[in-house]
Order: sequence, then structure tokens, then C-alpha cells
Amino acid sequence: MEGATRPLDIPENISFIEAFPILKREVNGHKLVYFDNAASSQKPRQVLDAIEEYYFKEHSNVHRGVHYLSQLATDRYESARERMRKFINAKSTREIIFTKGCTDGINLVAAAFAKKHLHEGDEILITEMEHHSNIVPWQMACDDKGGKLIVANVLEDGSLDYKDLKSKLSDKTKLVSVVHISNALGTVNPVKKIVAQAKKFGAYTLVDGAQAAPHGGIDVKDIDCDFYVFSGHKMYGPTGSGILYGKESVLEGMPPYQGGGEMIKTVSFEKTTFNELPFKYEAGTPNMAAAVGLAAAADFMDDFGVGNIAQIENGLLQYATERLLEIDGLKIIGTAPEKTSVISFIVDGTHPSDIGAIIDKLGIAVRTGHHCTQPLMDKFGLPGTCRASFAAYNTFEEIDSLVAGVKRAVKMLR
Ligand code: PMP
Repeated sequence: MEGATRPLDIPENISFIEAFPILKREVNGHKLVYFDNAASSQKPRQVLDAIEEYYFKEHSNVHRGVHYLSQLATDRYESARERMRKFINAKSTREIIFTKGCTDGINLVAAAFAKKHLHEGDEILITEMEHHSNIVPWQMACDDKGGKLIVANVLEDGSLDYKDLKSKLSDKTKLVSVVHISNALGTVNPVKKIVAQAKKFGAYTLVDGAQAAPHGGIDVKDIDCDFYVFSGHKMYGPTGSGILYGKESVLEGMPPYQGGGEMIKTVSFEKTTFNELPFKYEAGTPNMAAAVGLAAAADFMDDFGVGNIAQIENGLLQYATERLLEIDGLKIIGTAPEKTSVISFIVDGTHPSDIGAIIDKLGIAVRTGHHCTQPLMDKFGLPGTCRASFAAYNTFEEIDSLVAGVKRAVKMLR
């Protein structure tokens, strides 16, 4: 490794500077320090190579042609589906729908599920820490069908108020949709327990795994949720890729989302019959290159070791928490006992975006603002926070640079 101090010995064959070409670049005359991983992570060469190889040697349209390239592209695309089935331990590839990302997956479920299952007076239960993409599609579905959005509270430390969630479940609850790991607070929610509780009321369940996928180790059979959604671009994969997992019986019971090619069996002007799963939910030519890249990202994570990723990120979280708290007037927003590699903070007498803009001049990328969780920021009475979020390629030295940068910014701003 490039002399960087790490919380553990990473596998010898992985050099992050070689694996992630973008980490070599400078920003504003400084070495890039990339702490905006919760928004989108950087991509290893393994993923970039897989996409290039697909376009250089294998591309054609899928599921349609008898010719060699079409069959090759179909094989690559369907192998990627099998790879992603394995990534989340789903029972069957029929349960793996390729999407553009997490938002796309939630919108698909909200539209198709509501059409079939949501009726006047039914309730959808979410939490105060949801990303806008796990709020707005449900609001739209409720508006359409006369349903009601119910919101479970978050406690002061950023944990879910589980008792409140439990008390808001009733026979009216049609679906519980909850984030696995909060992008704004880092809180890890007890999704297995929530799913089991929701089932007692006959409610369906969706887990937003956008921030959990980059850590790996997801087991949808164990969680036992009806739906699990995530994006590829936050887990070292390409933009425009994502997975919607749905239990086969539940997906079978819902109508299609979009109509078009691929999702049909037969079409006449009088009547159309729909394709089987998973194709019923994949209208039009899919993003094959993104699927191939996503599968390569899952390979990268496995090659590196999901346990190693977790250990590195936890070490970084702990170190960054200690070091940032050295700063006078700095407060961390989100201190739940179960927390992962996201630190949201504010500093007395400063605005988060001013801090972000100043440290950007030092080559340090953090996110500032409401993180697409405006209701959560309103609850805490904040305009937003600065958020540093870590990936396996980050180092202790980079955290030292962040702390020095924030100290400098605070000095300038006060
Ligand atoms: N949910 C959470 C928790 C997220 O962090 C994000 C992305 N910030 C999303 C949903 C939406 O993901 P995407 O924009 O990739 O669809």
C-alpha cells in the first residue's frame, strides 16, 4: 500500500491507487480526498474494464437475436443477474429485476404495488429518516389511491424510535418501507425485527438498501422482506445500475409497471399477455453494460472481502469521530449505537456549505446540505449538515487532512 495507515492489512494484490484510477488525480492543486461516498463511490479498474470489454467485444441487443453476439450479450446480462442474486442471497433470478437505481426500484414498487394492493384508507408506514426517494413515491401512490402516509419517529441520537414504529402498525398498514442505513445519520436500522413485526399485521415490507449495499453481506432471505432495493453506483458499480429484489410470489401478484418490448409474451391490438419474471418488470432494452459493471463491482467487493470492508470503514468511522470532536463547537448529528461510515456534523457559528466550499479548495470532497432528507433536517431544526462518508479506499491520513481543513475553515469563518 502507498504508505497509508490502515486499520488492517488489506489483501496484498489490491493497491487502491492502482485499483481506483481517479484517486491519483489532484483537485485544486491538492491530492484528492474523496469523502462523498454515500452520494456515489469511485469505480475500480475491474468495473471499468468489464464495461469496456462488454462494449469492445460482446455488445448486441439481448433476448432477441439468434446470432452469436446477441446470445453472448444475453449470456453476459443473465450471468450478471445470477451474480446479483448471489450478492443478496435471493432464492431465484426471477426475483432480481435490473433497474436504473434505488429511486427507480422504489417507484416501480410504489406504482405497481399501489395499483394492486392500496385502497382508500390504507396506510403506508415509513420513518422520519427516509431519503426523499422513499417518501415521495409513497406520497404519490397515497394521493392516487386515497391512502395515508404514516411516519415513525426518530430519537434525538438518530436511532429509530422502534416503540413508536410498533405503535403505528395496525391492520390498516399495507406496507412498511424503511431505510436499512440512513444516508444522513449513518444509523443502521433493525430491519429484520421491523419486517417480523410488520408481518404480524399482514403488512408488506420494503427495505431501502442504498447505503447498505456498499458494505455487502445483505441476506434478503434472512431479512425476509418482500422488496429490497439498491443502486450500483454507491457500491463501486456504474451509474444507471441497480437492483429491485422482490419475493417471487409478491412480484407475480402485481401488475407490470411500464409497457413495451421485453415485458410481453404476445401482443395484439385486442390483448397483450405479459412475460414471466423477471422480464415482466424490464420493459425496453435494458442497460446491459451497467449490469455487467454492477456484477464486476460485486466481484470486486468479494475479492476484497466484505469483512475487510466493514473493518476498514468501522476503523475510519471511529478515528474520524474522535478527531472531529477535537474541534471546538463541532457537533455530530447521528450518534446511534448501531452506526456505519457516515458522519454528519455542524460547527457552531458556521454554515455547512461554507465549510464544504473552503475545504474543497484543499481538494477535500464532502457533501453539504439536506442530503435529500429535508423532513429529517427540519426535525433537527437544521438547514443541513456537512457529511463525510467513507469507503474502503479511504485512509487515516485523509481524515487528518479533513480535520485540519475543517479547523482552518472554522478559523476563517468565525
Ligand atoms: N435511499 C438512500 C438512503 C440514499 O442514500 C439514496 C441516494 N443518496 C437513495 C435512496 C437514492 O438513490 P439513487 O439516487 O441512486 O436512486
